Amino acid sequence: MSDPNAGLLTGQRALVTGANSGIGAAVARGLAMAGAKVAINYVVDEPAAKKLVNEIEKSAGEAMAIHADVSRESDVQQMFERMIETWGSIDILVNNAGIQRDAPFLDMTLSQWNKVMEVNLTGQFLCTREATREFVRRGVVPELSCAAGKVICMSSVHEVIPWAGHVNYAASKGGVMMFMQSVAQELAHIKVRVNGIAPGAIRTPINRVAWETPEAEASLLKLIPYARIGDPADIAKAVVWLASDQSDYVTGTTLFVDGGMTLYPGFREGG
Ligand code: NAD
Repeated sequence: MSDPNAGLLTGQRALVTGANSGIGAAVARGLAMAGAKVAINYVVDEPAAKKLVNEIEKSAGEAMAIHADVSRESDVQQMFERMIETWGSIDILVNNAGIQRDAPFLDMTLSQWNKVMEVNLTGQFLCTREATREFVRRGVVPELSCAAGKVICMSSVHEVIPWAGHVNYAASKGGVMMFMQSVAQELAHIKVRVNGIAPGAIRTPINRVAWETPEAEASLLKLIPYARIGDPADIAKAVVWLASDQSDYVTGTTLFVDGGMTLYPGFREGG
């Protein structure tokens, strides 16, 4: 069967942060299959980023790998300069890079708190600011898209579900939600769309301990009404939709892709 998204993003230029693994890699593949050129940002594991570039090029797509730490202003500025120099502009930004530094709250260090905020929240600020400046400079190109540009912020179900033992992470994702909505409100009049995706439990390296043993997986499945752990491709499909004109009237919203995790499954038997 042919890919239903083929051609949906033809000619558009996308940047995906933290795209060398997990959800980011699947998102990069999905965007490339839909016809976009994709810049694969990485901060570690250059071979994985280059392998993904080769994979996309082999299937007739266009990609490049760009090193940058999203929490460093100069790295982010250089990354956007390189992308815009090479491909002329940017149409789609996916703020995907994220980390966890877990600790019981009473033991959480300032360094654990700061590191998570710097990558998960400040990183999204720095990248979104560069992308939206370019969207505004260039304006709408009707042959490419109805919008001047699209930003997709990777959040988490923990933008609304409190998470003991992960206070820094949950606070950063709550921040991503309000960041996304405020930028969407500020820039909608110039046709910039900003949305979030809140994944539930997706099988990637970030949460390996939650699914790598049968006991851990069984315990995790109790939280998921749809009774399966998510696949990175589930998130990629949502990103392609939010990046395309199929979602042209959608801005400032979070799309939960979580198999029902946010439906309070503990209440299914009456609570
Ligand atoms: P992952 O660990 O595979 O991916 C995270 C990526 O971010 C990695 O490529 C990592 O190298 C990169 N990264 C970390 N710090 C960076 C920095 N300073 N600069 C640039 N890149 C950096 O995990 P994942 O599950 O694919 O996570 C992707 C996103 O999805 C994260 O924002 C995460 O919070 C979110 N998310 C994941 C899940 C899940 O169940 N896997 C659920 C909800 C939200």
